[in-house]
Formats: sequence, C-alpha cells, structure tokens
Amino acid sequence: MRIENKSIREINSLFQKKEIKPSELYKQVFENTAQSESVLHAHLKLFEEDNLNKVKLSDERYIKNKSLGLLDGIPIAIKDNINLKGYETTCSSKMLSNYISPYSATVINKLDEQQVLYTGKTNLDEFAMGSSTENSAYGLTRNPWNTECVPGGSSGGSAASVAARSSIAALGSDTGGSIRQPASFCGLVGFKPTYGTVSRFGLIAFASSLDQIGPITKYVDDTRIIYHSIRGFDPKDATSVSDKPVIIPSNKTAKVGVIKELMEEGVSEDAKNEVEKIIKLLKAQGIEVIEVSLPLIKLAISIYYLIAPAECSANLARFDGVRYGLRADGKTSYEMMERTRAQGFGSEVKRRILLGTYALSAGYFDAYYGKALLARKKMIDEFNQIFKQVDYLISPTTPTQAFKAGEKTSNPLEMYMSDLCTIPANLAGLPSISIPTGLSKEKLPLGVQIISKALTDDSLLDFSEMIEKEVAFKEEPSDWIK
Ligand code: GLN
Repeated sequence: MRIENKSIREINSLFQKKEIKPSELYKQVFENTAQSESVLHAHLKLFEEDNLNKVKLSDERYIKNKSLGLLDGIPIAIKDNINLKGYETTCSSKMLSNYISPYSATVINKLDEQQVLYTGKTNLDEFAMGSSTENSAYGLTRNPWNTECVPGGSSGGSAASVAARSSIAALGSDTGGSIRQPASFCGLVGFKPTYGTVSRFGLIAFASSLDQIGPITKYVDDTRIIYHSIRGFDPKDATSVSDKPVIIPSNKTAKVGVIKELMEEGVSEDAKNEVEKIIKLLKAQGIEVIEVSLPLIKLAISIYYLIAPAECSANLARFDGVRYGLRADGKTSYEMMERTRAQGFGSEVKRRILLGTYALSAGYFDAYYGKALLARKKMIDEFNQIFKQVDYLISPTTPTQAFKAGEKTSNPLEMYMSDLCTIPANLAGLPSISIPTGLSKEKLPLGVQIISKALTDDSLLDFSEMIEKEVAFKEEPSDWIK
C-alpha cells in the first residue's frame, strides 16, 4: 500500500520502526501535489521551502527515538481562514490579499507542539461563504474524483488536497456544513466537533455562533487523533467550553434514529440508498434503528440564512481599509471605506452582508433575526427531546453527489440547498461527522452523516469507526492521475 494511503497511526508506527522517514513521506506527498495541483488547485500557497528544514528535524527526532507524538512529521493542509503566524491568510478574498498573520490560531499552536508539517494553505469559498469553492477570488478548486465537478465547499481545497494525497489530513472550518459536505463530495471523513470544544481563536470569523474548526481525513482514527490534539478549553475564545466529554455507554446497545425529514423530497435516491445501506448494516449488528421526526429541520436553511448573514455582516464590518488588508484610494475616509469594500469583497459576500444588515436593521430585527433566534431555540429543543429516545441520528450528508462546476453558480438558492442536511447540527452546536460509504452510478463518492448529543464527540467517533469498518470503503480517486 502506498504510504500516503495509510492511516496516521500506521505511518507513525513505520516512522518509529525506522522503516520510513518523515522526509520520505513528505517527498511523496509533495510529488502528488506537483502532479495534481495544476489541475485541482487545492492549495493557494505551498510551504515546500520552509518544510525542508522542519522535516529534517523530524527525521532526527525519530532516529534518536525522541519524536513528539503521533503527528510528528505528518503533512497537514490548513484552510486559508486559519491564522498561521508569518504567512498570508487570505480567506480567498481580495480584501485580505496582502494580509500576513501576526499570530497563530490556537489550533496551530497545538499542532506546533507536535511538530506537524503544514503542506500549505488551502482554497475556500471567500470568507467560507459557499458550498463549492467557486466563490474564491483566486479561482476554483476541482474534485479529484472527477475534475468537471466541484469538491464541495467551503473547505473544498482542504478536501481536494487530502483526496489527491497532497496532504495526509487537513483542517477545515464548518459553519453550515463546510467540513462535512466537501468531505462527502471527496470520499473522506469530515468532522464538526461540539461547538466550543475546539478553540476558534485565530479562525477568521464568518458566523461566530456557528463556526467550528475540525479535521478532514481519510479515516475516522485520523480524525480522532487530530481532534484530540486540537480540542481543549481556551481562555482566548469566549465561547470555549471546559465541560468534560460525555460518554455514550456502548456501540452494541446504542439506539439510532433516522431523520425522517432528511429522507424525503429534495434528497436524491442515491443519497437515501446509502443511509438504507447503513441501517441494514446496523440492524445486522443487533442495533435498534427507528424513524424519528424533527419537523423544524425543514426550516433550518431559512433560519441559517438569517443568522449566518446577520453575524457575518457584523464580523466583516472590521474590513474597512483602516486596519486590515486592502485599502482603496478615496478623497475622504468614507469614500476610501466604500471603495475598499466594493473592490475587496466578491458578490456572495456582498449578498450576505446586505441580507444580514437588512435582517438586523431597526424595524426588521423582530420580524427576521429575532424570529430566527426563536426558531433556532425551538429546533434545539426538538433535538433535546429526540436525544431522550436515541443516541445517534443518521441522515445523508448531502442531498446529492458532487455537482458540476458552474451548475449552481447562477442560482444561489439552489447552492444553499446543498447544506440542507448539515446545517441543523451547527444551529444546535452538536457534533456531527460524515463518513464515506459508497459510490454513485457516476462513480462519485457519497457519505452518511451521524449526529450525537453535545460533548459526546468521542463516542460519536467510536460509533463511526465501527460503521467505517463494516462498510470498508476502499475506493480512491483517479481522475487527476494521468
Ligand atoms: N455553505 C454554507 C454557506 O455558504 C456553509 C458554509 C460553511 O460551513 N462555512 O454558508
């Protein structure tokens, strides 16, 4: 098996046994990047030079049996909305084209402690707003399974990079599905942890009450390793939680609910079939599976597209040409700000700022933002009730397989529908994972989403790993390999 196809634990054990060196793995990963990048455009920036020295030090640590942990020398790609000191963090926006991070995000400081290698910064939809990575100011990313298709978004660069084996794993951010949806489109595992368990300090905010950083990997165990390395209370993040993880007793006695509303119209037969396949497999294990109803899920997209734009309109107010990034000319400071924002933001970002400002404005606040908050609260209540009956919820991750580039760009509402299944977990702050389960007739990956109670992330990972083993999804993308 090619080294870059192995799990992090397997690679680490080969490093420990000195059967392979971190520099050899890095060389292989970099060769894959050199082959695929001109077609896929997963990365906005590669750190090859900087890694040459870092990887040598990693080699030495293994030679001297002084390695720093499972992630020492593992090449990981970082979404370009996460600050890494001394490097550009553009958020795929012209607004931040010249912005160099003066500090690192908490997740990066934590990965640094283990001497992770960063392959580079990956492409995304501008400020993480989108579902296809087509909203990047620096050009789109393509799906390694079929380069006519999008890799999903907004963490499309991170997913494409792992799928093309240009990195062993990646970090993404998920506000409404941006880790799970691209992971599903690219045949990978994507995990959005419980809100607050991973620090958002140093993640450039889109919608602060929804944003979470998480891993995109090939295997559930890789996700576990990365999640364990980046989680933890952080006083620098006001929404960070210090509560202890909660454990769900055992996989065998777990009870699973299939979300009825996500198995109805608007979801493709292919996507539903994957869920049916997993239900059969769970039942064969003696696990009880029942249908459950969460009626407010039907409103999730409407709730999200009030709350997320409202928060983004406030978060993006800081990009005014004064403190960060781009500054356009103007005779007055007002004209300078107006021109900076007109030139710096792309059309989707402007659309969200307009929507959000409108929803928050005096006279409309109660009718829109206020209502959305109430509906969000009711939806959380529905989840709480359901979790009295079942331990895990399952649904498709996405209503369809990866779509063609350009197919949905002219219809924002259709694009928004790609997050139908993923948004509810963000609104409720719940841990949620997508695991690859099969291929469609067109040979594109499909995934299944599993959601559990807040703080049960470890149990969710164990449960997903059990399913992963049963499914034994072994397919690999090949479209970019000529
Ligand atoms: N696609 C959703 C949006 O455009 C979710 C994005 C995300 O999770 N960052 O808002």
